[in-house]
Amino acid sequence: MRTGFVYDDRFLEHDTGPGHPERPDRLRAIIEKLQQNHLIDQLIRIEPEKISLDRVLRLHDREYIERLQQSCMDGKRFIDSDDSAICEQSFDIALLAAGSILAAVDAIMNDTIDQAFCAVRPPGHHAEHDQSLGFCLLNNIALAADYLTDRYKLKRVAIIDYDVHHGNGTQHLFEKRDDILVINIHQHPSTLFPGTGFVYEEGEEQGKGYTMNLPLQPNSDFSDYRQIFIHKILPKLNEFKPEFVLLSSGFDASQDDPLSNMNLSPINFAWITNMLKQVAAKYAHHRLISVLEGGYDLRSLAECTASHVQALLVDPEEDSLMRIKSGF
Ligand SMILES: [Zn+2]
Repeated sequence: MRTGFVYDDRFLEHDTGPGHPERPDRLRAIIEKLQQNHLIDQLIRIEPEKISLDRVLRLHDREYIERLQQSCMDGKRFIDSDDSAICEQSFDIALLAAGSILAAVDAIMNDTIDQAFCAVRPPGHHAEHDQSLGFCLLNNIALAADYLTDRYKLKRVAIIDYDVHHGNGTQHLFEKRDDILVINIHQHPSTLFPGTGFVYEEGEEQGKGYTMNLPLQPNSDFSDYRQIFIHKILPKLNEFKPEFVLLSSGFDASQDDPLSNMNLSPINFAWITNMLKQVAAKYAHHRLISVLEGGYDLRSLAECTASHVQALLVDPEEDSLMRIKSGF
């Protein structure tokens, strides 16, 4: 599989200050592990470029974007809340992170690569139309989905968000649309930030039925995730038949993560990846982009990411063998 890789040292310059969980060392740990495991050599580097303001303003409120830009220029350390730390460079880096995912979209749609993994920061899935939230400034995955439907006229794009926190921003941006299916599996909102993502949140107006929330109780493990993937997520994706698969890949459902209470191991993320890759193979000519969201224990984040990338790289024929062996 021709697998693209988005990363840029400039992503490290988004300085969130001492003690902040969403820190530059997260990307350093990932890169080091991908190098150690010789995975990075198998990836095709995508050159990052900034997203245009016009594209950002299709989803985000102008007043918010101007406030974000000004706050960075003024040297402020936070925007909207203490969680959303910023520095002088943060606005430009957020534009670069979002834009680099669009560059991966272009590379796939131009048939240069089949799929891509994007190791970006700041993360995006909590960012709302008119405010930052939970370490997120611009909604990276949402901007990519909108780009696919607007620029490439795709009619069915699926976003599967398996970060342990509910992707509130992504859901809210698309809950009235029927061309972008948003599936969220996360720790139950009554026990974890941001407190949204209940089962009854199913989309609105013509988007009703195109938002799916699958909250799990704290301390859930792989058997719980597996059940949900097989009995809820796969049937929904089989019904929708996505032309493009986007993954909000948070690795904070890992058993070692300090911000949550789930029990997944690196190999479990490989299983999830493999499952979603098969959906992309079946309906979307393998077209899949995975975008990094959370994951805050450095060792665990690096191992889960490596396991995810390894699973992306596996040849589809080897996949079939794995399926036969695992009885899937
Ligand atoms: Zn998260």
